[in-house]
Amino acid sequence: MPKYQNNKYFFINQEIPLPTSQYHSINHIFPSHLGIIFIGKILPSILTKIDFYINKIFNSFFYEILFIGETEIPSFLYESEIREEHNLLKQTSKKVILQPTNKLYNIIKNLMKDHNFNVGLGLTDLPLYSSNDKSLLFLFGESNINHQCALVSTHNLIPHFNEDSEYNLKVRNRIIKEVIHEIGHLIIGLEHCLTRDCVMRYSKIIEEIDSKSVNLCKKCQSKLNEVRLKNNF
Ligand SMILES: [Zn+2]
Ligand SMILES: [Zn+2]
Repeated sequence: MPKYQNNKYFFINQEIPLPTSQYHSINHIFPSHLGIIFIGKILPSILTKIDFYINKIFNSFFYEILFIGETEIPSFLYESEIREEHNLLKQTSKKVILQPTNKLYNIIKNLMKDHNFNVGLGLTDLPLYSSNDKSLLFLFGESNINHQCALVSTHNLIPHFNEDSEYNLKVRNRIIKEVIHEIGHLIIGLEHCLTRDCVMRYSKIIEEIDSKSVNLCKKCQSKLNEVRLKNNF
C-alpha cells in the first residue's frame, strides 16, 4: 500500500542489511581522504562551493576532496536497481519510491574501498528514509559514524517546480549546510547543537535549514579543535 505525505504518494523500498563495521572503534584518524559521491542527478555547479566550504570549516581535516560520479546514474549502479527507480522518479511527479539509507551506504562503502577514501559522503536526488528509524521519511541527510559515511538528499531541498533548473542561491545554501552538518557528525559526533544559528543544529523542516548558518558555533568549533589536538595536527 502506498503511503501519503508531503503531498505525494510514495512507496517504501525494501530494506537491506548493512554489513557490520570493519572498524573497531569510532575514533577515526584525521586528516583523512574524503570522497564525495554523486548518486543520481546532482548539478556540477555545486562542486566548487562544497569544496570551498568544507575546506573553510574543516580546514586541514582532509588531505583532498575527490568528487566521483556523473550527473547521470553511473553504470555500476545499474545492477543495484537504482537506475530504474531513478527513471520512475523522473516520470511521475506524485509517486516516488523512498530508498533506505543502508542501500546507499552500501554503494558509498564499495566506492570508498575502491578509491581508498576514509570518509565518504553521498549526494543524491533520490528520496530517502532512515534504515535506523523507519519513521524518518524524506530525510535531508544522515550519517553513519561506524562506517564513516554520510548522505545528503537534495530531494526535499529543491522546490518541485524548480527541479530541472539550475540551483538557485537558497537551494545551494541548503545543500552546503546539509553537507557540512553531516560531515560535522562524522568528525565531532552524533550529538546535535542547540545554538540557534549553528550548522550542527538539527533541522526537521526546511525553514530551520534556511534560518541557520553554514558555520560551527564556538562550542562545536572547540569540539573540532579537540579532535585536531587528539590527532596531532
Ligand atoms: Zn544531524
Ligand atoms: Zn554548535
